[in-house]
Amino acid sequence: MNFIFLGAPGAGKGTQAKLIMKKYHITQISTGDILREAVQEKTSLGLKAREYMNKGLLVPDEVVIGIIEERLKSPLYQTGFILDGFPRTIRQAQSLDEVLDKLDKCIDRVFDFEVDEEALIKRLTGRRVCKGCGQMYNIYFNPPSQDGICNICGGELLQRKDDTLETIKERLKVYRAQTAPLIEYYQKQGKIETIDGNQEQDRIYDQLCALLGS
Ligand code: AMP
Repeated sequence: MNFIFLGAPGAGKGTQAKLIMKKYHITQISTGDILREAVQEKTSLGLKAREYMNKGLLVPDEVVIGIIEERLKSPLYQTGFILDGFPRTIRQAQSLDEVLDKLDKCIDRVFDFEVDEEALIKRLTGRRVCKGCGQMYNIYFNPPSQDGICNICGGELLQRKDDTLETIKERLKVYRAQTAPLIEYYQKQGKIETIDGNQEQDRIYDQLCALLGS
């Protein structure tokens, strides 16, 4: 089965994708993670993407479409995948349909994570990530035992550059203008299912598992 997790930044797509990936043995493809890794490694892709990401803007369509096209050809994704953070524009969605068509695949279901904007802002401004092991925290809802230090590996906790209030507001604006129209795009294909992303993580996971079945 091939899924798309759609929703604003901070809606919980990445967290749920990782949980669903473990249970159903399908692979998550997060364009945000791929781009952040490229920025960290200072590859030519990373250098191109960094400016856009730091400003909360979308990386140009042709760049992300290229990444996805390459990934989807890999045997790693033959048993199914979750696209997390892609597509983010109508053009990306159209290109995805074309690429999948060529590969004789399709998107089976699209889960739209709906979350109130106030909650999104609190989730994003409070988010911290361990530099060592990648463990996620939130200083409001799930703080580490010791300020700024990972409970698991003792690593330093960092705030993503694009998780500052100013950039978050820009990211939400971009979401409303460029990504939200995808809900209608997939509604027309009869593929959208809405997830109440305001709930606790466990409840969201249970809702998803109930929809996906065993
Ligand atoms: P995320 O971690 O999914 O919130 O993505 C972080 C940033 O990476 C976004 O704010 C964009 O700058 C960039 N990005 C991730 N996915 C895409 C995409 N599908 N299209 C364009 N830019 C993207």
